[in-house]
Amino acid sequence: MMTTTKVLNFIDGQWLAPKSNEYLENFNPATGEVFSLLADSDHRDIDQAVEAAQKAFKSWSKTSPEDRSQKLYKLADLIEKNIDDFAKLESKDQGKPWYIAKQMDMARVIKSFRFFAGAILHSENECNVMDAESMNYVLRKPVGVAGLISPWNLPLYLLTWKIAPALAFGNTVVCKPSEFTSMTAAKFCELLAEAGIPNGVVNMIFGTGAKAGDALVKHPKVPLISFTGGSETGKKVIQSSAEHFKKLSLELGGKNPNIIFADCDYKKMLATTLRSSFLNQGEICLCGSRIYVEESLYEKFLQDFVREIKELKVGDPSQKDTFMGPLISAQHLEKVQSMINTARDEGGKILMGGGRPELAAQFSKGYFLEPTVIVGLAENSTCMQREIFGPVVTVSSFKTLDEVIEKANGVSYGLSASVWTSNLNTAQTVAKNLDVGTVWINSWMKRDLRVPFGGMKASGLGREGGRHSMDFYTEMVNVCLTTT
Ligand code: NAD
Repeated sequence: MMTTTKVLNFIDGQWLAPKSNEYLENFNPATGEVFSLLADSDHRDIDQAVEAAQKAFKSWSKTSPEDRSQKLYKLADLIEKNIDDFAKLESKDQGKPWYIAKQMDMARVIKSFRFFAGAILHSENECNVMDAESMNYVLRKPVGVAGLISPWNLPLYLLTWKIAPALAFGNTVVCKPSEFTSMTAAKFCELLAEAGIPNGVVNMIFGTGAKAGDALVKHPKVPLISFTGGSETGKKVIQSSAEHFKKLSLELGGKNPNIIFADCDYKKMLATTLRSSFLNQGEICLCGSRIYVEESLYEKFLQDFVREIKELKVGDPSQKDTFMGPLISAQHLEKVQSMINTARDEGGKILMGGGRPELAAQFSKGYFLEPTVIVGLAENSTCMQREIFGPVVTVSSFKTLDEVIEKANGVSYGLSASVWTSNLNTAQTVAKNLDVGTVWINSWMKRDLRVPFGGMKASGLGREGGRHSMDFYTEMVNVCLTTT
């Protein structure tokens, strides 16, 4: 079972030690202390989990949508009942303030289960009458054992965004959460039996991407992989899965533009831009890390933006007024700091931040970083091109619509964008010319779970959400029926 010190694998309803009998250290990012040990799994544990999931698939795939719906609603209720414990654990493991873990992450976990529990009761299938004798109808079948791999920034939120539709449409799953944030995934498994979800339907394997993740991607009996993580890892997933022609959904990195026109609702834009820059320590794939401001508003924006950032509290994640906790790991902090140094070397000016905040002694070994604003960088500089994935934004000005569209599209990524304007023509022109999967006009991260979510270019392959998740987590069989 799961104890405070060791997180074991969850296979076929049992807590099992990894075959290697080795464990990874798991750190509290606010203090830098080890607070649990994590199963360091390999292909043998993955094989065992896939076998359990295959066995469970035989019956789970034949259950009715009503049955699955009831169980998923029950699971959502159980998570809600334990929401405070989940939020505190997520905060301790990931670093984000606990109230953000509660209001954003856990609220969304519950919403995902309820959304797909409802969706399967209302989904409709295609039927086309062809001529007097024939009609076509579409049968949907669950795909089989789904391999689900998730990152560390929104741990249970992103993992359950995969688990909920996979189960709803009749698949069984083998999950590999990030080795940096596995605690809430383990806690989640403790609720499955009470929700009535049979053993083997959800299996959780902990450990590194190189061993456990890669074995899952390569496994011949796992026909579908939903992966969220970095673009370089995404490339490896494509290569490793090619042998078996797997269904793939890849949600990868971003370098999202936040385009601000002078005619916007200034107050709303400023408040939202603070959040889109630094919420979750800037560790959200959708954060607007490249801010483009129309020239006439540029100086005023910078002044007000910096003033407001100074009000954001960085520090103890257990305090209600903390806005930013630590970054995820010592290595990630080092990477983000080296990007800031590169920005300096490439002629950028650090307008504010860039250093470690002064905090109480208990946080002296934590991975904290001040919110950082960089100006004066060329479009082709490293920090304008590469994803930083931390509390760092670049700000620059633009004069014309064409110029800002070209700049916004001038990176290898294409995940999302925010556009701030009160002019509908401007908004529509920018939206249709940006090569990104999601454009928010006068908002940020407003999510309707029915809409297609995903990225273009190096930001990913495929879309999930609503019927797009149904398309991904089912196989379609067209039946052409002709009367004799
Ligand atoms: P990562 O790619 O390092 O790891 C993601 C997951 O993949 C982890 O579970 C890891 O163990 C596993 N993994 C690593 N190597 C693997 C391999 N060879 N085969 C199979 N699995 C492997 O990413 P990360 O650092 O955990 O997360 C940050 C990245 O995720 C950022 O680039 C961010 O933009 C991206 N992200 C994207 C979205 C989106 O929806 N597009 C959402 C959140 C995060």
